[in-house]
Amino acid sequence: MNTLRFFALKESYSRKPIQIAENQHRSALFGNNVFGKKAMRQVLSAEAFRAVEDAINTGSKIERAMADSIAAGMKQWALEHGATHYTHWFQPLTGATAEKHDAFFETDLDGNAMEKFDGAQLVQQEPDASSFPHGGIRNTFEARGYTAWDPSSPAFILDTTLCIPTVFVSYTGEALDNKTPLLRALGAIDSSATAVAQYFNKSVNKVTATLGWEQEYFLIDAALAASRPDIMQTGRAMLGHAPAKGQQLDDHYFGSIPTRALNFMKDLEQQCMLLGIPVKTRHNEVAPNQFELAPVFEEANLAVDHNSLIMDLMDRIAERHHLKVLFHEKPFAGVNGSGKHNNWSLMTDNGINLLSPGTTPTKNLQFLTFFINTIKAVQDNEELLRASVASAANDHRLGSSEAPPAIMSVFIGKQLTKVLDELEKVTDGKLSPQEKTDLKLNVVGKIPEILLDNTDRNRTSPFAFTGNKFEFRAVGSTTNCSRPMVVLNTIVARQLSDFKNEVDALIDSKNMKKDDAIFNVLREYIKASKRIRFEGDGYSASWEAEAKKRKLSNNKTTPEALNIQITRPVIKLFEETGVMNEIELKARYEIELEEYVKRIQIESRVLGNIAQNHIIPTAIRYQNLLIKNVKGLKEIFGADHKKLGQEQLVLIEKISEYIKTINTLTFEMIEARKVANQEEVAKRAVSYTKNVLPFFDQIRYASDKLELLVEDKLWPLTKNRELLNLH
Ligand code: ADP
Ligand code: MG
Repeated sequence: MNTLRFFALKESYSRKPIQIAENQHRSALFGNNVFGKKAMRQVLSAEAFRAVEDAINTGSKIERAMADSIAAGMKQWALEHGATHYTHWFQPLTGATAEKHDAFFETDLDGNAMEKFDGAQLVQQEPDASSFPHGGIRNTFEARGYTAWDPSSPAFILDTTLCIPTVFVSYTGEALDNKTPLLRALGAIDSSATAVAQYFNKSVNKVTATLGWEQEYFLIDAALAASRPDIMQTGRAMLGHAPAKGQQLDDHYFGSIPTRALNFMKDLEQQCMLLGIPVKTRHNEVAPNQFELAPVFEEANLAVDHNSLIMDLMDRIAERHHLKVLFHEKPFAGVNGSGKHNNWSLMTDNGINLLSPGTTPTKNLQFLTFFINTIKAVQDNEELLRASVASAANDHRLGSSEAPPAIMSVFIGKQLTKVLDELEKVTDGKLSPQEKTDLKLNVVGKIPEILLDNTDRNRTSPFAFTGNKFEFRAVGSTTNCSRPMVVLNTIVARQLSDFKNEVDALIDSKNMKKDDAIFNVLREYIKASKRIRFEGDGYSASWEAEAKKRKLSNNKTTPEALNIQITRPVIKLFEETGVMNEIELKARYEIELEEYVKRIQIESRVLGNIAQNHIIPTAIRYQNLLIKNVKGLKEIFGADHKKLGQEQLVLIEKISEYIKTINTLTFEMIEARKVANQEEVAKRAVSYTKNVLPFFDQIRYASDKLELLVEDKLWPLTKNRELLNLH
């Protein structure tokens, strides 16, 4: 009899909750382990403090002597807070975070011990990081890669290590990470959005993109997870019949949080507070064992860092609670998967949310300008936006009637639809004084300041306006937010600078007033963006048909979705905005395809192993029991055994059929892999989608049928109903 499953079940039932005391107000903990403004003021000279502030606000360079002074302050603070090591903390293109710790400890020639850290170590390092994905960039020229300090994301202490957020670039300056293009995209949107915001308010000097992510995840008992090779190696249950009771009764969503999960959350949240991650919301999600966590929104670069950090932190803290976090987009068939909504907006340095309607017609014209330009940007780049969230795991989720489809569209709600319909009727050319007054009073002036009408929310839309921000809902739960944020900010940056050029052209050549020019350009954008707007049910088949008529892309698989990234117009877009060059784009394309292939390859191997080593032998063992039974019946009843053992005989045959199916399919799958592996990467990826992936469901189907037939105590794999039963 198998023992691992039952050992794990026993372990999981004997867990004692690990109580977490809440001794201090969260605000008293907030940022204590962060080298933020408060800490910097304490240990840095006024001059050094200003140098960091300037670097954050204007991207100005920090001179070497100044870096030494900052490093000295940082070291002092870190040592006072118990740090023994420091690391450049970066986000290579694996999607996760990377760190290599060095001790502050050093000895001099006389053997004297000391703690050392200077400006050189703060500003730039050369990790031996040759094994990170680089898509060929590091084969050319020099193979070296550098990490360089990003002062806009403050250093923090994790455990006993001072972590310094950095970019990771090649010797030739190409981005090897997720942060570099993000910083460039945020720079691009800053300059183009500031220029447009100045039409309405001359005092705006800077525009910051804001991001509030909502992270969904599953929690399962660590011992149960460890008993499932598929979960340990692929992050998801590749096999296993859906539990009889899944989410049908809607009794988990917003229900009371299971004690073990709540303790984990408290522990996590306290750590988040210390690290300056402003987590605010926690609740049960739709599926059993599924939860969600959301912070207060932040500047996008910091928010991306915080999301990467929290995913790492969640893994570590879960361990303490004998839990395992599953971030996978579809860890269990038959219940909902996980996403990571990205709420996005733009904020001026005087604190105005540019996507928030205001109290005056001018503020509302400003709002409409940014609102309509965003819609136009999505309209023109819908396929690229889809590509920014493409991954093997997210392919399970998009379009599976619990998550938005793979078709991008924008939802804006009834009220704003009416406003856009009115604006579309604006006169071509100069507006009469009467028309302008009318517009200001009845259209632009009539946008209610608070648009957060909950009844008007459409949960099926991938890109929805939710009152004062857009919510991009197609992002996968494992995706590094940097990918969608790079694309969104780049396309809107590009759109806003086009807008500025068009408005200025009308003002200069047609002698139009500024407002007239703005109304004219917006009117054309509204007309041009109709295709992308959709208010109906995004999950419906009729939308898929309608979207096809509208010639919207519907790339259901990652290899299809990624192609757009290396097309001429996209390369031009990224080059002109200064976000990425052709080499970087092609490298990323290759890395993403490679990752896709590797993920499916690993899944295919894991599935093959489980099928051969666990499922088939178990089926045979149970079949032997049945055979023994039938033989026994024959011994006692002679010829009558056929009638008496009729059901057993049917079962014996059925089991043989399933064994045959699983065995044949597994070998065919291996052959398909061999063929696919011969191809170059783009074709290999397609081949994996078309020729390897389809076996997964077929093998699973037969195995899940066997799970229902075979005696429970013989079944080696912890059942999904057991995994999804956190108490
Ligand atoms: P939901 O109904 O989808 O759960 P909420 O209205 O509760 O959404 O908000 C979700 C997220 O939106 C939160 O993380 C919040 O911080 C974020 N958010 C709110 N305002 C902004 C903004 N101006 N920019 C970016 N994110 C924002
Ligand atoms: Mg949301």
